[in-house]
Amino acid sequence: MQLTPLPAFTDNYIWLLQHRQQVLAVDPGDGQAVLQWLAREPGRQLDTILVTHHHADHTSGLQDLVQTTGAQVFGPVLEKLPVPHTGVADRDTVTWGPLRWQVIDVPGHTAGHVAYWAEPEGEAPILFSGDTLFSGGCGRLFEGTARQMLHSLDQLTQLPVDTRLCCAHEYTLSNLRFARALEPDSTPLADYEQHCMALRQRKQPTLPAHLGQELEINPFLRSRHPAVRTAIERHTGAPVSDDADAFAQLREWKNDFR
Ligand SMILES: [Zn+2]
Ligand SMILES: [Zn+2]
Repeated sequence: MQLTPLPAFTDNYIWLLQHRQQVLAVDPGDGQAVLQWLAREPGRQLDTILVTHHHADHTSGLQDLVQTTGAQVFGPVLEKLPVPHTGVADRDTVTWGPLRWQVIDVPGHTAGHVAYWAEPEGEAPILFSGDTLFSGGCGRLFEGTARQMLHSLDQLTQLPVDTRLCCAHEYTLSNLRFARALEPDSTPLADYEQHCMALRQRKQPTLPAHLGQELEINPFLRSRHPAVRTAIERHTGAPVSDDADAFAQLREWKNDFR
C-alpha cells in the first residue's frame, strides 16, 4: 500500500494511504491540497477520512472533501468536528479495504484524542498518532493531564516495535535538540539526529518514524529511564514524586526549551 505524507501549512502532514484506487486520508487540515493530490492520478477515490482530534489544522479541509468526494468521516466520539462523523472510541474498529483500523483512546493533547493502528498484510503496521506522539516528542497538554498523556503513550508503546509512526507534524529536529539536552551521551540519539538532519537538508520528511527507534530516543517514552529521571531532577532541583510527576516536569521543561 502506498503511504504518503502530504505537507500542509508550515509543518503539518496529511497522511494518505492508497489501496488500488481507494484512498484514505488522515487529519485533512487543507482540503485543496488533498483534492490536488487526488487529481494527479485519475481514478483515485477518496472514500474514508480518519480524524484524530478536533484542532483546526486537522479538520479545516473536511467540509470541502466531504462535499466533493462524499467520503465517510470517522473521528473521536467525544469531540465536535465541522462535518457529521461516525464517532469512534477505544477498541472500536474501522474497516477500510483489507484493513481493520483499531481505535486507541489517547487523551492528553485534547480530551477525546484517538489514534488509529492497523497491520497491512506483509507490511509493517501503521499508526496514525495525530498530535499525541511525535518523533522525538509528544503533544502539548491542552485539555488533559500529564497522568493521562503518560497513560496514552503507554498504550502506544505496547504496539509492535516495527510499527510505522505517522505523526501529524514535522517537529522531529526541534524535538531531538531537546532530547539531546537530556541524554547528551546517547549514541542512538546522535545517529538518529544525523539521519534526520540529512533528510531535512534534502527537504524530505523524517516520517514515518519507527516505534522501536522511538523507544530508544524519545524522552517522553523514556521518562521512567534512570538517565532521563536524573536529568529531570537535576533540571528542577528536586526529586520527582512519581511517574506522572516526572512526566509533568518533563513536559513543562520542553514547553520552555529553546
Ligand atoms: Zn492538535
Ligand atoms: Zn496539529
